[in-house]
Amino acid sequence: MPIASVNPATNETLATFEPFSHYEIEKRLDRAVAAFHVNRARSFDERARLMRRTADCLDERKTEYGKLLTLEMGKPIKAAVAEVEKCALTCRYYADHAASYLADEPVKTEAQETYIRYEPMGVVLAVMPWNFPFWQVFRFAAPALMAGNVALLKHASNVPQSALAIERVLRDAGFDHDEFQTLLITADQVAPILDDERVRAATLTGSEPAGASVASAAAKQIKKSVLELGGSDPFIVMPSANLDEAVKTGIKARIVNNGQSCIAAKRFIVHEAIADEYEIRFVDAMNALRVGDPLDESTDIGPLAMPQIVSDLEKQVKASVDAGAQLLTGGTRIGDRGNFYAPTVLSNLALDAPASHEETFGPVASMFRVRDVDEAITVANATTFGLGASVWTNNRNEADRLIAGIESGQVFVNAMVASDPRVPFGGVKHSGFGRELGVYGIREFVNVKTVWISSLRA
Ligand code: NAP
Repeated sequence: MPIASVNPATNETLATFEPFSHYEIEKRLDRAVAAFHVNRARSFDERARLMRRTADCLDERKTEYGKLLTLEMGKPIKAAVAEVEKCALTCRYYADHAASYLADEPVKTEAQETYIRYEPMGVVLAVMPWNFPFWQVFRFAAPALMAGNVALLKHASNVPQSALAIERVLRDAGFDHDEFQTLLITADQVAPILDDERVRAATLTGSEPAGASVASAAAKQIKKSVLELGGSDPFIVMPSANLDEAVKTGIKARIVNNGQSCIAAKRFIVHEAIADEYEIRFVDAMNALRVGDPLDESTDIGPLAMPQIVSDLEKQVKASVDAGAQLLTGGTRIGDRGNFYAPTVLSNLALDAPASHEETFGPVASMFRVRDVDEAITVANATTFGLGASVWTNNRNEADRLIAGIESGQVFVNAMVASDPRVPFGGVKHSGFGRELGVYGIREFVNVKTVWISSLRA
């Protein structure tokens, strides 16, 4: 598969790149090892200075980079600029907190002195997806670099210009000893890199097959991996919820990033007492969305990132309707230029219909009706995924039961699921393992070293 930027709004090719040769990869690996010696020797203050400078550069270039994201993968321009801003915020967050998150921790034992110290692991390979081309990379790279590691990025083949821009901004900010390198490589070049002793760990954000492949390659060489995979998040609405907010935020949670987010709300599980009203209002709001040019500030939904995503959605929706689902709106591609798909709502879904148990990566909402909290939990958990969940209720008891009963990495009550540098992010079941962000994120790629000093005279 070629490495190419193709504008999803027009299907025009913007740039193509030759994958790195074996010789080029060898050079990059050597440079990464040399860079590790530099970055591990830096103090937290020195790393923080470079990370804050990175944040400043991101802020200065947010319009340029925002436009690049929109041109490469089609997200609406406002969201693209906001993504760059969030990366800057996260760089500052880890600049401020890395030293305390990784400070030595004394432990009381019978020894004269016992403590835990956190040491960087070395070169970490990051395999990343195209849907948040900057955010996915920075939420790994900011803590990893602050911990003293160095990074090699294999980005998705359709966002090479974003991948190179990230390398450039870190370099310009002062990480200029190859602490972060972008490898222009294809998926089949990943496993041999993981076989190499110079690489110590891997992180992948993407689909289940890619995750299984990278985690297996890492495990074969006894290397750690973190996997952030897909999701089919439930959005549960109970009768005590504020319905206006549950509709407004439900729409936002479904169409975020043109519907191509791992934590987008995909299954709407609504109490039967309010289901008719919720569906009517939800469908009206979906029909009011503006689908079109992602560079236009007023656009709600731009094109999907690749033609394949439109074909996949068409197949999932058709198969679900064939299995008995009712199409309340949408269900069609729009136009013949670019990868546009109409906002779509399905109801009356069987639990084994594709739109019930597969991830729908686009603006397709699936509606379910339930009688009570127990049934809501059963439907919410009727998926192999377990990433996030959004719960709408004003009854504390109901909220507590839903929080405890749903199998997921995060539950948000009366809010949409979102990532935030202050709190850990990750999934259970087929949504992956390990965590990014917060204190847990920065501790994924460190050696947790126990130091036990029985006695020492000096
Ligand atoms: P993908 O096809 O799995 O690609 C992700 C990355 O993995 C790309 O860089 C891809 O490279 C690479 N890759 C694919 N197969 C590989 C293999 N066998 N060995 C090594 N690398 C391989 O996923 P995507 O379509 O880009 O992204 C969408 C998926 O990511 C969705 O399932 C979404 O839910 C998930 N996601 C999860 C999170 C989270 O935090 N949990 C966040 C965002 C997205 P190529 O592009 O060269 O194939």
